[in-house]
Amino acid sequence: MSENSWLDAGRATLPEIKDFVARHPFAILPVGSTEQHGPHLPINTDTLLAEAIALETARRSTGLVLPALPLGYAWVWKDVPASLTLSFDTYMRVIRDTVESLSSWGVKAVYIMSGHGSNPQPIKHALRELIHDKIDIKVLYGMYAGLNTMKAEAESDSWHGDLHADEIETSLMLAIAPDLVRMDLAKADYPPAPSDYGQSELSMGHLMRSGVFGDPTKASAEKGHRWFDIAATESATLWNDYLSRHDLLTGD
Ligand SMILES: [Zn+2]
Repeated sequence: MSENSWLDAGRATLPEIKDFVARHPFAILPVGSTEQHGPHLPINTDTLLAEAIALETARRSTGLVLPALPLGYAWVWKDVPASLTLSFDTYMRVIRDTVESLSSWGVKAVYIMSGHGSNPQPIKHALRELIHDKIDIKVLYGMYAGLNTMKAEAESDSWHGDLHADEIETSLMLAIAPDLVRMDLAKADYPPAPSDYGQSELSMGHLMRSGVFGDPTKASAEKGHRWFDIAATESATLWNDYLSRHDLLTGD
């Protein structure tokens, strides 16, 4: 990739963005969530992580990195203090309208990179609507990559496979925003879940105690830097493969 194959859109001007999209019609949209993360992490953790990993992914591959969307689909924290959620339908529309705008700029492919596990569900349905309406843009979406490697390397168990204020998220935050992490307040918490969890109306919000799900005391900046690198590397590989498969990198 050439040196100018990525751009931070939020800091760029109209002529810079027009010039970039004419040469590299690819965008990365980080999507986060504003939600409680216990006593030791800030409520914009998911958004900060999505944005930082999206920027590093673009540096290692290509793309116009858009300003992160701070509100997500966080029904699991409905009515929990310090948490905001859009409804499934509203979030679908936000994604759909954003992708349609990008298409009208001439963007040919977008990578919607989430820092929050529930966002991909409404994104999937928004994508199906876009396809149905024949909007001419390719959409890759999902959580930032590398989570399987991180879970395998973590010292502590995840809580039901989820990622929330645990060793992994706390380590990643220690890597990208150490001033925002209050390790002195970090405590392990594995709230018990009845056997119908995941198959009933019970959500993480119903089961939470401190707001932590896992063991953040095992977190370290060293692990965070390693896992951040894995997230960016694997995300960049996925994105490059996706663009290549659609013949979008030709001539680059
Ligand atoms: Zn989170």
